[in-house]
Amino acid sequence: MSILTKALIANSVVVSAIESKDIVNKAIKIHNLSPVAAAAMGRALTMAALMGEEFKNKEDYLTAVIDGKGPLGKITVCADGNGHVKGDIENPVVETVVKQDGHLDVGDAVGKDGTLTVIKDIGLKQPYVGTSQLVSGEIAQDFAYYFADSEQKPCGVTLGVGLNRRRCKSAGGVWVQILPNCPEDVLSRLETIMYAMDEMSYQFDGSTAEQVIRRFFGEFELTITESVDIDYKCNCGKRKINRIVKSLGKDEALQIVDEMGQIEVCCHFCGKKYTYDRDAVEKLFR
Ligand SMILES: [Zn+2]
Repeated sequence: MSILTKALIANSVVVSAIESKDIVNKAIKIHNLSPVAAAAMGRALTMAALMGEEFKNKEDYLTAVIDGKGPLGKITVCADGNGHVKGDIENPVVETVVKQDGHLDVGDAVGKDGTLTVIKDIGLKQPYVGTSQLVSGEIAQDFAYYFADSEQKPCGVTLGVGLNRRRCKSAGGVWVQILPNCPEDVLSRLETIMYAMDEMSYQFDGSTAEQVIRRFFGEFELTITESVDIDYKCNCGKRKINRIVKSLGKDEALQIVDEMGQIEVCCHFCGKKYTYDRDAVEKLFR
């Protein structure tokens, strides 16, 4: 379980922060992620958690797809209004390259020549879809650019995942949203603070989200407005998988059972397997 804390700063800036180690470790376990894949997906899941917290209704749903054309392939992360996030990655075992400064080369593994697409379903007739170009493939910068470019929302985003071999030892993210009434002097201080917000995973090592917010923004008038639990949890279930099997059509479904003995559907987000034997298939199409 991870705790996300939100604060209003100087009456003109909304800051959300999450300590996301548990979420990243669940993703590593489910997807058997190599370190660079864990860093990329961990950052993306952390951002999805921060964005999902904005939802007003439990049914609201967000999907973000990072398609950088790099070795990791497409990274998909989802968040809902229940405080649940989940993710999928095309190539989870990409070899890890370490840059000269000792950091994992997430940008090259994600790729830079692609797009970030965000789909928000908040119960309107059509879901909202926004797309922007990737800036660096490092995820945080890409989301910051997305907010500015696609949602006309000036934001600062910083995300970090610290790993010890195949385990996440600390992770977290901070999302700074500047409200239209933000005074110039606050804005210029924020720029300096955001610039200093480096090595995010260390900041969250042994610190809660609230402590990180107070550490960086303590000089401003600060009100904690929310504190919620977020978890990596999949919302797949028999009913959803039934629909997928039904979409095959009865003839094709039965043909698979004839050839393979059963139909097996594996959820990409949590690894759970659903199986259908002949009886189950026939019952489904009855
Ligand atoms: Zn699932």
